Amino acid sequence: MPRDSVDKPAHIEDKLFINGEFVPSISGKKFEILDPTTDEVAASVYEAGVEDVDRAVEAAENAFPAWSELPASERAAYMLKLADALEDVVPEIGYMDAVTMGKPYVGSPVTHHSIQNLRYLAGQARDVFGETSLSTPGKLALSLRQPFGVCAAIIPWNGPLMMLINKVGAALVAGNTLVLKSSEKAPFTALIVARLCKQIGLPPGVLNILSGYGTSCGEALAKHMRVRRISFTGSVATGKLIQKASAESNLKKVALELGGKNPMLVFDDADVTLAARGATMATLINTGQGCILTTRIYVHSKIVDGFVEELKKGVAAAGEPGDPLVPGTRRGPQADQTQLRRVVGLIEDGRRNNYDIALGGKGRIGDKGCYVEPTIFVNVPEDAKVMREEVFGPVVCVTTFTDEADVIRRANDTEFGLYASVFTKDLSRAVRVAKAFEAGLVGVNCTSPAGLSEDLAFGGWKQSGSGRENGRRAVEAWTEEKSIMISL
Ligand code: NAD
Repeated sequence: MPRDSVDKPAHIEDKLFINGEFVPSISGKKFEILDPTTDEVAASVYEAGVEDVDRAVEAAENAFPAWSELPASERAAYMLKLADALEDVVPEIGYMDAVTMGKPYVGSPVTHHSIQNLRYLAGQARDVFGETSLSTPGKLALSLRQPFGVCAAIIPWNGPLMMLINKVGAALVAGNTLVLKSSEKAPFTALIVARLCKQIGLPPGVLNILSGYGTSCGEALAKHMRVRRISFTGSVATGKLIQKASAESNLKKVALELGGKNPMLVFDDADVTLAARGATMATLINTGQGCILTTRIYVHSKIVDGFVEELKKGVAAAGEPGDPLVPGTRRGPQADQTQLRRVVGLIEDGRRNNYDIALGGKGRIGDKGCYVEPTIFVNVPEDAKVMREEVFGPVVCVTTFTDEADVIRRANDTEFGLYASVFTKDLSRAVRVAKAFEAGLVGVNCTSPAGLSEDLAFGGWKQSGSGRENGRRAVEAWTEEKSIMISL
């Protein structure tokens, strides 16, 4: 089926969204986003600079008093309207994600999941409570939860709607106003959301959307003296810069959702087919570009041969990657040339070091676009680059173990601590291992992203981040606590 059988949106918004209006950047500068399938320009967009950050923060500041004074149920009602409006633009979001970061167009479950999450967050509007105490004689002690004021959000490209909803939904329901910077690789989904905010009549300035680069627009937000909280999702390296910028400016509160190098342990009593299916999915989904995807797989030596065979079959069955705009394509290219170089570099490093390859190993496929051959390394030493660094591509390492304590030590021997999974039929062992993992999220007999739901808090241990999104306290996380003592 030709790619032009999918309708291109009639209008692609390219301006910044500040104070409820689409406006060009003050500099008038634009930047281009290349389609990772064709290497051609997909679209261009206005680039926000430091002055645009100032305008957006000012708009958010002006909007804050009225927005924070609305009944929480009214703020939630706006989010529910936004969720309904998003249902109508799923194909448009699919199109823009496909031509910017290569995500397959059809039926993205993640888009629907994000819309549901927005409704879930709206549902928390009346569920944010302080505390009371009468333990001091003659005093009533109580605490309130109040919004921070103007907040900022910076998101990556690998899940443009999901990352946005996690932050926008919770921040706005809590009563904050927000300036969000999208990723320079995939800015259009955020601009579609901006259009819908205008359509549903969200008060001007409550949500402001900037397209721009990290080192200019992103840094200006992270350093801004009038931003009180920043929530960041992206790499560990950038997370550290955000933390530093906050420390060097106004010590704004920082929440970080960062990378992972996620282990999966498959014991000798495990359902090997189930485990291999999970590993296959983790290798291929979003072309391996997910923070919680499994990349280090430890399999008991008694069952490793059968596991590798099933994993190979599963990955090979997915066939060649294709054009994400062609209906039916399950796997597209990497998001851009930078991602391509990074993944190919790690595969080449593995080849140079003569690590065993069970499948793939070629690196780049073809000479157009950012396509990579899925690769399974086996018996890779623990200190190999591909075992230590986040790949963010369809590359996994399988290695063996015989002893439970030893494999837990190896699984935890990383600075990352985002996701970990264990496959076993022994319930005691499953709980023991889940408890021993140094990770914020754990799967038992399932692996990323199965088993994650918006009801559960999402976030990392160690250098994978600080703070939590989703879960019962997602909205509360966007509030400050105030303690009040009343003399009786
Ligand atoms: P990145 O860190 O390169 O960029 C993320 C965002 O930060 C972008 O919007 C970018 O413009 C901005 N940025 C870059 N430099 C900045 C600076 N100096 N100051 C302020 N902002 C700056 O990450 P990426 O390549 O977009 O995304 C991939 C990374 O995100 C991976 O490490 C992945 O694991 C992580 N990620 C984590 C989660 C999670 O929930 N834990 C979810 C998705 C992705």
